Amino acid sequence: MSDHRDTGAEADDVRRFWKGLGLPGLVDVHTHFMPERVLHKVWAYFDALGPLTGGVEWPITYRKEEGERAAVLRAFGVRAFTAMLYPHKPGMARWLNDWAAGFAGRTPDCLHTSTLFPEPGVAVYVREAVEAGARVFKAHVQVGAYDPADEALDAAWGLLAEAGVPVVIHCGSGPAPGKYTGPEPVARVLARHPRLRLVIAHLGMPEYEDFLDLAERYGQVRLDTTMAFTDFSERMAPFPRRALPRLAALGDRILLGSDFPNIPYPYVHQLHALERLGLGEEWLRRVCHDNAAGLFGLSGR
Ligand SMILES: [Zn+2]
Repeated sequence: MSDHRDTGAEADDVRRFWKGLGLPGLVDVHTHFMPERVLHKVWAYFDALGPLTGGVEWPITYRKEEGERAAVLRAFGVRAFTAMLYPHKPGMARWLNDWAAGFAGRTPDCLHTSTLFPEPGVAVYVREAVEAGARVFKAHVQVGAYDPADEALDAAWGLLAEAGVPVVIHCGSGPAPGKYTGPEPVARVLARHPRLRLVIAHLGMPEYEDFLDLAERYGQVRLDTTMAFTDFSERMAPFPRRALPRLAALGDRILLGSDFPNIPYPYVHQLHALERLGLGEEWLRRVCHDNAAGLFGLSGR
């Protein structure tokens, strides 16, 4: 288990990666922090996956308490990270947002994160969150089991588009499909809100090319790398090699994401998985730092 891993040696590996690129550190747009009892439920879900999925084990590499997890990211040189959290039912988002505001308040390197759900009052609490300084939102279409194009969300999307606040949205059908996962519901959202800054989580895994289509069509759509290209994901949902040139061309709209701490391998593997794509150092600099630094107005390199 991870408790026995030497964080110092691992931090050296991560730091060697970004220093070698001449970067001041990493920006990771997809890390999970949430109230402890919610996080423990998420971990219980992953723990149960082996028997449920016919053998795919998902050991959580960084099963530590909250302060230790933030300290690990700092030791890695992650300059800014997020607190991705999401409700699975109505009446929960506002509470999560209150928690996330507190977490961001005591964690200056966390980009204040909020979430939303199709329910009465969503536009009100989304506006309040933006006014309170939320820098990024998270939406989880599979866990929430809702249509992102649900009319109940329309005003909230409009507000976020206008405010230019990015929304990391888990909308691909991996690792498990949902009734509303896949590109089609998101395409309907973008048709109504073409300037909405959606960040497609997991690069849209496994519907990579459909989501690349959307990014090519809508200039404010971005994709995060979370778990993509790793040995773990390539076994289940390989990224099609023929789409690599499109990834290169979208180099200013791909953002490093990791899914820390809920990953079944060491953090540095995500970085090496990006490096071995062979898209070059300038692409890596943009993806691992510059694109997100620009998007969130952090100091440059
Ligand atoms: Zn995630």
